[in-house]
Amino acid sequence: MKLSALSPRQLIEIDACTRCGECLKSCPVYAQKGQEEIDPRGKIQAFKAFIRSQYGLWARVFGPKKLDEEKLKRFSEMVYRCTLCGECGVSCPVSIDAKNLWLALRETLVEMGYFPKAMDQLKSNLSEVHNILGNENMERVEWVKSLDEVPDHLYDKERAEVAFFVGCVASFFPMVHRIPKALVEIFRKTGVDFTLLGGEEWCCGFPLIGAGMKKEAEVLIQHNLEKMKAKGVVRAVFACPSCYHTWLEDYQTDIEVFHSTQFLKKLIEEGKIIFKEKKAKVTYHDPCDLGRGSGVYEPPREVLRQIPGVVLVEMENSREACKCCGGGGNLEMVDPELSAALAQEKLKQIQATGADTVITSCQQCVRTMMSTARKKKIPITVMDITEFVLKNMKS
Ligand code: SF4
Ligand code: SF4
Repeated sequence: MKLSALSPRQLIEIDACTRCGECLKSCPVYAQKGQEEIDPRGKIQAFKAFIRSQYGLWARVFGPKKLDEEKLKRFSEMVYRCTLCGECGVSCPVSIDAKNLWLALRETLVEMGYFPKAMDQLKSNLSEVHNILGNENMERVEWVKSLDEVPDHLYDKERAEVAFFVGCVASFFPMVHRIPKALVEIFRKTGVDFTLLGGEEWCCGFPLIGAGMKKEAEVLIQHNLEKMKAKGVVRAVFACPSCYHTWLEDYQTDIEVFHSTQFLKKLIEEGKIIFKEKKAKVTYHDPCDLGRGSGVYEPPREVLRQIPGVVLVEMENSREACKCCGGGGNLEMVDPELSAALAQEKLKQIQATGADTVITSCQQCVRTMMSTARKKKIPITVMDITEFVLKNMKS
């Protein structure tokens, strides 16, 4: 067992866990499963035991013990049953950066060959056709053809200062095509000269990083950077918080990156978006990679507050304490039932606010919450902020 995926800080963090159990109170997966081995504390203690068996005093004197395959398999199942929402890290009194620790544990498990089969499929899709679904990559732009006005260049221009990086989920899942369509329509109405990367947009690499396959993501990262540079892009806009977060953290670039909520706020401040009145009581769901992951809490709320007549009510858990919708961490690929159960819990919190619409700023959150609301016949309207802005803009 090699520990090369873990930084010295992470090794200290493993040792620093006091087993206080604060993280148990916030982990949505533990709330569903109630198993000690799946909660953050349990995972840290199990990994600590593996380390001790290989590198502890006993191992130094008598040699490392043979690792128990069944225990490793079970541990891997627990590590991949996590949405990487990061809430455990926020509640940890000794400031363990839990989300990055889970990523390092996944990398370690990948090196050892203990990871879910679904991750292998993901890896081959991304290396062969560069999108999570394994479709022909040119199909990324199919949604463009259903816009009200379709230009000949399909928004894949030779050069533009602004690029809209769409991401795999919004490109390939018809249920959420309405999100990139809304953002493009807002750009058109406000005169933003932008380009897409079209069939040359590759997955941002986030799903591979989440799978514990960070090295494999490098090819995707370099490709996307080259394509952006070739078009002379200086500002990139993302409606997907995971793509945005990955560009912020893992792309070494001087291209300025904006989440759509930040860009919409900028357009409002420049007077390019003016709203009509809309009487509505809405609540806002913070996507994990945008809120806890990237610290973007206020821009979406500021955008919503600019719409006259809109009353924004907060959920019991919001901002840093916002509960994950169940759509993160590749959990849907590993355990769809668990992912749906988390979405159902989320919908209960939304309903408790008395709002009939939940606004978010992530296509994966929209997919997860909307699918569960439909299946369970829960009367909640789920909208991305781009759609809500477009619907309430003065033309
Ligand atoms: S809150 Fe932090 S210190 Fe306490 S058990 Fe969880 S990971 Fe360990
Ligand atoms: S990242 Fe979220 S789902 Fe994973 S252990 Fe922490 S709180 Fe639980």
